Amino acid sequence: MVLFNENNRIAFPRYGIQIPSLPTRAIKTVEALKAHPLLGPRSAEWLIEKIPNTIGKEDLLRAHTTEYISDLYSDKLEERLLAAYELIDEEGNFNRYDPDSAEAPLVDLLEDVTRIISGTYRNIQLALDSGFNYFLGGGMHHAHPAFGHGFCLVNDICTALLKARAEGLIHTAWIIDVDAHRGDGTAEILAQTGEITTISIHMAKGWPLDKPQKQADGSLNPGWFPGDVDLGIESGEEADYTPRLMEALNDLEAKQGLPDLFFIVAGVDPFEGDELASTDPINLSRDQMFERDRRLYQFCQEKNRPSAWVAAGGYGQYSWEIHARFLEWVLQERLG
Ligand SMILES: [Zn+2]
Repeated sequence: MVLFNENNRIAFPRYGIQIPSLPTRAIKTVEALKAHPLLGPRSAEWLIEKIPNTIGKEDLLRAHTTEYISDLYSDKLEERLLAAYELIDEEGNFNRYDPDSAEAPLVDLLEDVTRIISGTYRNIQLALDSGFNYFLGGGMHHAHPAFGHGFCLVNDICTALLKARAEGLIHTAWIIDVDAHRGDGTAEILAQTGEITTISIHMAKGWPLDKPQKQADGSLNPGWFPGDVDLGIESGEEADYTPRLMEALNDLEAKQGLPDLFFIVAGVDPFEGDELASTDPINLSRDQMFERDRRLYQFCQEKNRPSAWVAAGGYGQYSWEIHARFLEWVLQERLG
């Protein structure tokens, strides 16, 4: 039901990284659910804390290029980490990074990342068993086949889904990415995988779509790599967000039928109270955020297909409240 273990996340301050991704988001969500008068006493029925480590280099190779993954398992790892987490600016100075304050070497972060992918993979298994599961972690949708991007070293969504597919757990899936930022890495990794369809609803402008579509050499800027369904939302179109998403899902079903699994990248950063500057162009209210998740959940239920949800983006002191409100509702629906 709700999968969470404190060890399956990246403790950025441990490495001297100053990214406003508060570790308290998932912890506060679980605390709120445990304090709920009806859910609290029944936590054994919905809280799952055991996440076996299942992800190795061979799994990463399904989603990423051989060269990139070889780099991660060599002395080039640090360089790749500095790039993925944008820890060096254009002048070559440290950016949001203070190695002197670190308690652990940066390269240890790779293990944290593979533990997160283990969570995303376990989440898929649990969703297939019970019809619904929500991992309070994961959602590294900006990692491309050959490089990390936007705080994402590797892509847990693609790695976990391609592992599940290779093992015969699923044949087809839809990734429904409702994070504020476009799921650019996921789109590129799965471009050749017809069985997995990528749907992203995101800010029409702003990162990662803030650069021209084409680079000087004529190639696409990575942020623009097209997915199967791309829905760009302009500032001021917040009221249209959920209706447009639902319309697109119904159109897709009419076109290609239903998948074995819905995978929801449930970022809460479209919320107006999100504190990451790059999400300023989109401002869904608390009620609009709840409506988005409730309608998505109901869509999956009506179609009688399992759904696996990952927390993805959410920044600042209020984002946990968005997860908590939806989960309070959905757990009561499911537990009866
Ligand atoms: Zn995001």
